[in-house]
Amino acid sequence: MSFPPSATPCQDVQRVLCVFAHPDDVDFGAAGTVAHWVDQGIEVSYLLVTRGDAGGFDDTPRERMPALREAEQRAAAAAVGVKQVDFLEGYADGSVTPSLQLRKELVAAIRRARPDRILTSSPLRRWDRIAGPSHPDHLAVGEATTCAVYPDARNQFAHPEFAAAGLDAWTVREIWYAGGPDPDHAVDITDTFDRKLAALRAHVSQTAHLTELDSMLRERLAGLAESLGLPGRLAEAFTVVHTE
Ligand SMILES: [Zn+2]
Repeated sequence: MSFPPSATPCQDVQRVLCVFAHPDDVDFGAAGTVAHWVDQGIEVSYLLVTRGDAGGFDDTPRERMPALREAEQRAAAAAVGVKQVDFLEGYADGSVTPSLQLRKELVAAIRRARPDRILTSSPLRRWDRIAGPSHPDHLAVGEATTCAVYPDARNQFAHPEFAAAGLDAWTVREIWYAGGPDPDHAVDITDTFDRKLAALRAHVSQTAHLTELDSMLRERLAGLAESLGLPGRLAEAFTVVHTE
């Protein structure tokens, strides 16, 4: 199972909501693209399902990890110009499932933010790269977000208590998936690479041990660019799906 070829992205996008499982997911996969969106005047906000409490590579006391990683994600967001960063409560790193409860909370978030576009992780596993992109939390968040976009967020009869609270039905027109198999929509991030790198370096607990981060990223993003027709450039790549 894979994605169909990407749709042509909508041109009149005003708001984007980025939904990911862990602090740093959006930055590894998409910070250069997010920086471009911010430059274009698009209002971008982040919603994190967990605080990445199972992450880290050193002897930081484990109980400090959630607050530390929340602060790191806020600093990383600031590096690409994103001001709104929210976290769900009650989800633990490593045990996220596409539950009805998660879906419902994502519906509320969508109705609050009213995004034209959602960026999230792929619900499809990359069998050629289990470590990293195919973390089960990523797959679960991609699946729950997709189910929140359709049908619940746009169905006025789903969760009537939301409408009563002023969270009216909202149709997200487009989903961008990061980290999935065979992404075919490239975004040239050569000009925003420095901001992506700054965002990733803000995740000190995750990246301080990666002494080759800069060159490792350049190599990966140059390879992606080359394979998608942008030789000599750096690119992030996605699958774009229309939902209407
Ligand atoms: Zn992750």
